Amino acid sequence: MSQPHVIIAGGGIGGLATALTLQQIGVPFTVFEAVRDVAPLGVGINLQPNAVRELYDMEIGEEALDTVGLPAKEWALVGLNGNDIYAEPRGLLAGYNWPQYAVHRGLLHVLLHDTLVARSGPGAVRLGHRVTGYENNADGTVAVHVERADGTRLSETCTALIGADGIHSAVRAHMHPDQPPIHWGGAVMWRGTTTGKPFRTGSSFIGLGTHRHRVVIYPISHPDPVTGLATINWIAELTVDKSEGRGDGDWFRPVEVDEFIHHFDGWTYDWLDVPDLLRRADIAYENPMIDRDPVPTWQDGGVALLGDAAHAMYPTGSNGASQAIIDARVLGACMIEHGVGEAALAAYDAKLCGPISKLVLRNRGAGPFGLLNMVDERCGGEFDNIDDVIPPAERDDFMAKYKAVAGFAIEQLNKAAPTIAPGQRVAKPVDAWTVSGAPSDRPAGQRPTPRGASG
Ligand SMILES: Cc1cc2nc3c(=O)[nH]c(=O)nc-3n(C[C@H](O)[C@H](O)[C@H](O)COP(=O)(O)OP(=O)(O)OC[C@H]3O[C@@H](n4cnc5c(N)ncnc54)[C@H](O)[C@@H]3O)c2cc1C
Repeated sequence: MSQPHVIIAGGGIGGLATALTLQQIGVPFTVFEAVRDVAPLGVGINLQPNAVRELYDMEIGEEALDTVGLPAKEWALVGLNGNDIYAEPRGLLAGYNWPQYAVHRGLLHVLLHDTLVARSGPGAVRLGHRVTGYENNADGTVAVHVERADGTRLSETCTALIGADGIHSAVRAHMHPDQPPIHWGGAVMWRGTTTGKPFRTGSSFIGLGTHRHRVVIYPISHPDPVTGLATINWIAELTVDKSEGRGDGDWFRPVEVDEFIHHFDGWTYDWLDVPDLLRRADIAYENPMIDRDPVPTWQDGGVALLGDAAHAMYPTGSNGASQAIIDARVLGACMIEHGVGEAALAAYDAKLCGPISKLVLRNRGAGPFGLLNMVDERCGGEFDNIDDVIPPAERDDFMAKYKAVAGFAIEQLNKAAPTIAPGQRVAKPVDAWTVSGAPSDRPAGQRPTPRGASG
């Protein structure tokens, strides 16, 4: 090949963050996305300060993020009796240099897509193109096999293939054909949104209940200035008998609230009425809490996995989307250091696969919700003063350890150099590469004057 060209399988949060990063550092790319239309699907997700920092470095700042969510102010665990177990400030209030954002996943997705298309042109994302497999060629290139929505097929050759095609990744299945099926631990989540009044600080993430039976609630929009009402995201969770076999279900099955609301009868407090919140849902889905067993490597020659394809994890740590964004930036930094090719992918794999695989397993153990397990074990969830059950120092120590593993320890993050410094690009400038074909045919990163690429 006369010039590097990266193919990204999957235009979700991770794939689009990768594309925006490659555009920024001057690497030509094309995103192949299976769905035909980009729609704002999903409900709430959290962007941790480490990921928000990376978005800011991609020139997706506060103004843009405020259109898809709001800065989080507090993270709190509350027992079934309504008493606090743990509460801490989040984002800027906690001392991070960057906020944590609670956002609507679908709106964030559309924001990333539209930003990419504005910077790189409409050819950046080829919708209705499903990657079905690949081969590493003897000359170091990769042949990528694609099926279009109309059933026709094509093969494209590239320098590197990034499999960002989600939890059901075809690239991962090709790389690890013997991987076990999806793993389900027995928890079912019903997720949805309700228009309502925000609680506590006005932007608090609240986990209420026990580790086997809980609700998680947080707003994902700024309140309407007239009504004071916001979009409240909620996740109602229950651990059931695994023989019920819901683990192989769809990622997001639309569901009627009546199917599950009875599990939360009586969860009424002076500041929160859970049944009322669920009953007034704008939308509700059922999805099993699933992940995948870690694999020993995310790299196979010129192919690497990224985001959920690499490390689908339980959402207990609120870091699936954040980690996908971090992956994209680390990959970009490795390309700046090693050039576009196998060496960069190997460096990326060496840096992330081991530690993030450990994080997957740690989230299986309930992640930061592990404090609820401890309360349950020590007092069956019944307490007047939490200090008698878990002393403050032990609670703080538990949370500090989780943050260190997840990469959002405050001091560490604040003093870390940017993953990609402003103006950094891959060694060979795009302008020196031969550009061939009509603008709509050429790889997206090849635009002569890309926005956000200053070097
Ligand atoms: C429709 C949808 C809704 C979601 N809603 C939520 C939510 O409400 N809360 C939450 O915590 N998480 C949600 N997630 C998951 C969350 O987005 C991810 O856990 C996280 O953001 C990591 O992103 P990712 O890009 O790795 O994976 P994803 O965001 O899952 O993106 C993967 C992308 O790859 C595409 N794709 C799949 N197979 C192929 C293929 N073979 N070839 C080409 N493209 C392919 C998919 O269409 C998708 O766009 C949702 C995912 C999807 C796809």
